[in-house]
Amino acid sequence: MDGTRLFERLERINESLMEKFGLEYGREFELIRMAKVTEEVGELADAVLALQGLQRDNKKYQDLKKHLGYEAVDVMVSAYLLAVAARVDIKQLINERLKIIEERVK
Ligand SMILES: [Mg+2]
Repeated sequence: MDGTRLFERLERINESLMEKFGLEYGREFELIRMAKVTEEVGELADAVLALQGLQRDNKKYQDLKKHLGYEAVDVMVSAYLLAVAARVDIKQLINERLKIIEERVK
């Protein structure tokens, strides 16, 4: 999947969520999005613990690695949507930041 199509899909998800929950741009929207990122990070931590056999209820998911992957995607999507809510030019910044990270890890 190319990046443009991915961003189009994320934008449609954003628009759908805003309409479904009656959200409007502003400080409250940013805080709601931050709460969502935090929720998803918690779910990712839960998935990691389940994969390591450290959760009491780790039989809940048939494929623990896939579950961890889904939660990692949820974290990325929710972080992306937070940046959109804050009206950050996230598409441009992803490229800029990746270049910085690539230089850092050389
Ligand atoms: Mg999740």
